[in-house]
Amino acid sequence: MRPSDFDTAFISHAPGYWPEDSMSRWSDFKWQLRNRVDSLTDLEARLRLTDVERAGVLLAGHKLAMSITPHFFNLMDRDDPECPIRRQVIPRIEEGWNAPEELSDPCGEDSHMPVPGLVHRYPDRVLFLVTDRCASYCRYCTRSRVVSGVGEQHLETQWEAAFRYLEKTPQIRDVLLSGGDPLLFSDERLDKILTRLRAIPHIQFIRIGSRIPIFLPQRITPELCAMLKKHHPLFISIHTNHPRELTSEVRDALGRLADAGIPLGNQSVLLRGVNDSVEIQKTLVHKLLMCRVRPYYLYQCDLINGSSHLRTPVAQGVAIIEGLRGHTTGYAIPQFVIDGPGGGGKIPINPNYIVEAGTGHLTLRNFEGEIFDYPDPSPMPRAEMVRLQQQAMPHAGC
Ligand SMILES: *Cc1c(COP(=O)(O)O)cnc(C)c1O
Repeated sequence: MRPSDFDTAFISHAPGYWPEDSMSRWSDFKWQLRNRVDSLTDLEARLRLTDVERAGVLLAGHKLAMSITPHFFNLMDRDDPECPIRRQVIPRIEEGWNAPEELSDPCGEDSHMPVPGLVHRYPDRVLFLVTDRCASYCRYCTRSRVVSGVGEQHLETQWEAAFRYLEKTPQIRDVLLSGGDPLLFSDERLDKILTRLRAIPHIQFIRIGSRIPIFLPQRITPELCAMLKKHHPLFISIHTNHPRELTSEVRDALGRLADAGIPLGNQSVLLRGVNDSVEIQKTLVHKLLMCRVRPYYLYQCDLINGSSHLRTPVAQGVAIIEGLRGHTTGYAIPQFVIDGPGGGGKIPINPNYIVEAGTGHLTLRNFEGEIFDYPDPSPMPRAEMVRLQQQAMPHAGC
């Protein structure tokens, strides 16, 4: 799997599958939302589906809805059912089979909610699930049990109780707004939520997790950016998996956020047939730096129901990090993590550069496979200390 010219360049794919006259509304995010592809009929009007995809779409209605913005839809290859964009948003028949290791709540979030909608797993920070809707739905969604409104559970965020919990829990200094996608809310609604959080003195750091800059870059309006910058320090973690997703519209939207002083990070999910090669990952992280986005996490795909066709062996993630570290800019390298099944939190997984841990020294290897011996510090000999003391202060009587 190698990136094509199509993937490496920042280009617009509009109008793509849409008629030329839709371009007058193209940059209106409400038009993009109204014109999402969310039915088999819509989909088949534009793409020739395989049987694996057609069956997947029919099954998806009871698990996780399908919905694709026109902007993102245009990144799909009409003729290639294995296209890395198609695999992320078009359901496939494999989603209908749950492997024995899979779970509906793979990160054990439901058992760590002191208040419905608020996940408190780490000592000093919380995950606040503010909505169950997204601009488009990722087929490997870790929260598919509650997201999109058609699955087995419904998100019932208790707003007042959640704010009261935050107010009375002073060890919480970091709030992560997620869902669903918080940037689907109106500017006014988001402003109210952020204002309420900012009124809590112990909350230092706020971030928003969002794939809207990728699915719906038109939503990143100057008005939204002006509102967000009132609530600093505010970070945004975006989610992009494949370099083709970084179009010229996305680069411009990320530029508006960066110009508003919002530090940007990216979270990718390692997905089979989408981004499971060093070449694709390297192109992705280089494009991210050009958009002023720092790669943050590379996630092993969670053990979510119906995901085995998208998951990779852990060794593949380690090989990707090994293929990046030393070979490219350190800022471009994300931390590879596994979210511990059942609620262990994020566990960092790294290539092993320690060949041997001896007494008083380590044997290390570098990114080129060369071996280095690295000694622990030696204690200064007592005689040396006496000698130097006499040299520095010859007249100080003993
Ligand atoms: C990922 C996550 C966070 C944030 O973790 P960081 O390592 O600080 O990015 C907080 N709470 C929950 C439940 C999470 O899953």
